Amino acid sequence: MSLEFLNNFFFTGQFIPHGHCYLWKPGLVTLHILSDSLIALAYYSIPIMLVYFVRKRQDVPFSWIFLMFGTFIIACGTTHLMEIWTLWHPSYWLSGFLKSITAFVSVYTAVSLVPLIPQVLALPSPAQLEMANVALHKEIAERKRVEVALRESQQMLQLVMDNIPQFIFWKDRKSVYLGCNRNFAQMSSVGSSENIVGKTDYELAWKKEEADFFFECDSRVMDGNTPEYHIIECLIQADGKQAWLESNKIPLHDLEGNVVGILGTFENITERKQAEEDIRNALEKERELIELKSRFISITSHEFRTPLSTILSSADILEFYNQKLSEDNKNKHLQRIKNSVKNMIELLDDVLFIGKDEAGKQELKPRLFELVQFCSGLVEQIQISTSHKITFSNQDEYINACMDEKLLRQILCNLISNAIKYSPQGNTVYFDLVCHCGEVIFKVQDEGIGIPEKEQAQLFTSFQRASNVGAIPGTGLGLAIVKKAVNLHNGKIVIDSRVGVGTKVTVSIPINYLENNK
Ligand code: ATP
Ligand code: MG
Repeated sequence: MSLEFLNNFFFTGQFIPHGHCYLWKPGLVTLHILSDSLIALAYYSIPIMLVYFVRKRQDVPFSWIFLMFGTFIIACGTTHLMEIWTLWHPSYWLSGFLKSITAFVSVYTAVSLVPLIPQVLALPSPAQLEMANVALHKEIAERKRVEVALRESQQMLQLVMDNIPQFIFWKDRKSVYLGCNRNFAQMSSVGSSENIVGKTDYELAWKKEEADFFFECDSRVMDGNTPEYHIIECLIQADGKQAWLESNKIPLHDLEGNVVGILGTFENITERKQAEEDIRNALEKERELIELKSRFISITSHEFRTPLSTILSSADILEFYNQKLSEDNKNKHLQRIKNSVKNMIELLDDVLFIGKDEAGKQELKPRLFELVQFCSGLVEQIQISTSHKITFSNQDEYINACMDEKLLRQILCNLISNAIKYSPQGNTVYFDLVCHCGEVIFKVQDEGIGIPEKEQAQLFTSFQRASNVGAIPGTGLGLAIVKKAVNLHNGKIVIDSRVGVGTKVTVSIPINYLENNK
């Protein structure tokens, strides 16, 4: 580039200033200067506002066109400043160059506008936006109204469910709770029905095994798409009490018929179950009573028949052969009659004792007496009428105890007479009396036939006898009486027996019944 070109471009060269064209008329020059200055000022200020607008409204689309307008306006402003400059300095090449840049930016902006116009026209107008806004407001208001209506209807539904006496819940396809009524919320310890949403059975008050059972049951109903009714379940409630429930589980479907959850309802049938149990127990008792009565009739009729026959035959002999009989023989028959009557009275006493006890009328009349003397006297009395040897041993010299003497006599007489009855003639029966830790312990032991192990527990029931008694007579009332008498004293009885080896019966009774039961 030659020096001459640069001189022409930036400097005046051979051109004359533009003011000459205006003949330097002050008015005309001033008019041009003022007009160009104001135009330039205005042109420079517009882009500032455009940039400010674009920065403030970043959501306005096509912001680049605003920036292009700005550039083109600045270029225009600069050409006007150049007009003032060329009044005195004829740098027309520079001025022309600036105009050409302005022309390029203006044309580029104008061309860019052409495809932009349809896009700008496609943008919603403020009026359209206003309309859309109004429509949106209407829709929001409508939605709010529907929401309120929905909430009210849900509240009504919840109210209905909360007042149903049953327990209701519903879960999603994964057995996660979606809702429940108030009864269920209280039972499951979540408090209110909203708190159950999102929980599983494993987070509620049930035990793990119960939760497993519910989960399995839910899966079965949902997987099989088949409702299950009247499922009886036992459950430990939040308060720790056991409850019996009768449940119904029904699969829930969406509009396409897919299983989307489960609805469960149940009732607490604990009272009904209890009533059933009571009826069952009462029936069982009734059955036992009927059985007892029939056993009573068969055994007592048999037990009465024998002494009655004896009495009749001895009375006949005395009536018909009175003259021929020796005094000894007469006495023998009279003795047989007396013994038979005694046996019948004893049997009646036993039956009366059982009857009284079962009616809850058997009274305990405890009094203080000395046991060692009492027991040795009893042994002496029994020893007279048996060929067995009864060995009585006692650790203490004196034992003062407060018991019902008549009942204790019945206990010991029955145990010792059993030991005698169920062991061979001439055998020894051991009777020990021990006082230990506030209890009196009576042990009666024999080396007799023993009792089969499986039958031992039932021998405390009236009229029950072991299978190995053979022809040994008995009614099966003795041990029942013993058990009841021991119970009345708050005592315990234990049988230790082996068939063919012998039997040991241990009775322990608190030494001072009155003291212990104050
Ligand atoms: P009773 O009413 O006349 O006493 P019982 O002796 O048959 O008749 P329990 O005294 O109640 O009735 O005894 C019940 C049963 O227990 C007996 O029939 C007998 O089978 C068994 N039993 C009791 N004591 C003994 C014992 N010491 N040895 C073996 N068996 C015994
Ligand atoms: Mg007996």
